[in-house]
Amino acid sequence: MKNQITDSGMTRRMFLASAAGVCGLVAANGLGLGGLAWAEEGPMAPALPFPEAALEPVISAKTIGFHFGKHTALYYANTAKMVAGKPLAAMPLDKIVLEAAKDPSAMALFNNAAQAWNHTFYWNGIKPGGGGAPTGKVLEAINGAFGGFEAFKKEFTDTAVGQFGSGWAWLVKEEGKLKVVKTANAATPMTSNQVALLTVDVWEHAYYLDYQNRRADYVTAFLDKLVNWDFVAKNLG
Ligand code: MN
Repeated sequence: MKNQITDSGMTRRMFLASAAGVCGLVAANGLGLGGLAWAEEGPMAPALPFPEAALEPVISAKTIGFHFGKHTALYYANTAKMVAGKPLAAMPLDKIVLEAAKDPSAMALFNNAAQAWNHTFYWNGIKPGGGGAPTGKVLEAINGAFGGFEAFKKEFTDTAVGQFGSGWAWLVKEEGKLKVVKTANAATPMTSNQVALLTVDVWEHAYYLDYQNRRADYVTAFLDKLVNWDFVAKNLG
C-alpha cells in the first residue's frame, strides 16, 4: 500500500495522510472530522503531500530531504518506540500528545509526539504555488481579527521572528477568535485549548540551508509563496 501512486499522482499514504491523518488530528480539536488511530499509521510519518523538490526555489529539496526525511521521521520513530506495548499505542497522535502533556515524567514522549504532530501540521499547511492572501471565510475571519491581511502578515511575521530560539508561530482559534501565538521547542497550541489553523516552523533546521540567519526572509517567503489556505479553511471549520 505504501507509496502506491494513484491516478491523481498522490500516493496512497499521502491520501491517507490528507484524508484521515491530518483530519484525524484536527478532529480532536473538535472540528468533527474522521479519526485515525496511531496504531494504524505506525511509526512512519504520513507522506509529504508534495515531491521533495516541489517547493524550490522557496525551500530547497535538500532542506526538505533533511527536514522531512530525517527530522520528522525521527520524531515519529521515537514516539512509536516510546508508546510500544502501552495503551497509548492505540491512541491517535493528538491524544498521545495530550496524555503526555499531563505527565511530568513523560517529557521525552511529549517532545517527540508533539513534534511529530507539529511537523505533519506544518507539511499540510504548505504547498507549491501557495501563499498570498486567502479568500472567502478565511479572509473574512482574518480581517475581523486583525483588521486586514497586511496587519495579520505583520503580526505573524513579527511573532515568528520574535520567537527566541527554536519553536513555532501559529494562527489559532481560541474561543471562536483568531489569534497569532508562538510556542517554544515542541510546545503546541492544543494543550492551551487552541485550535491550530496554520503554523510556520522556525527551528533553524527548517530554513538554515536556504536562508541562513535570515529568518524574516523565510517567514515572508512562507506567507507569500507557500501557505495552503485550503488547509487553513478546513481547520477553521
Ligand atoms: Mn522542524
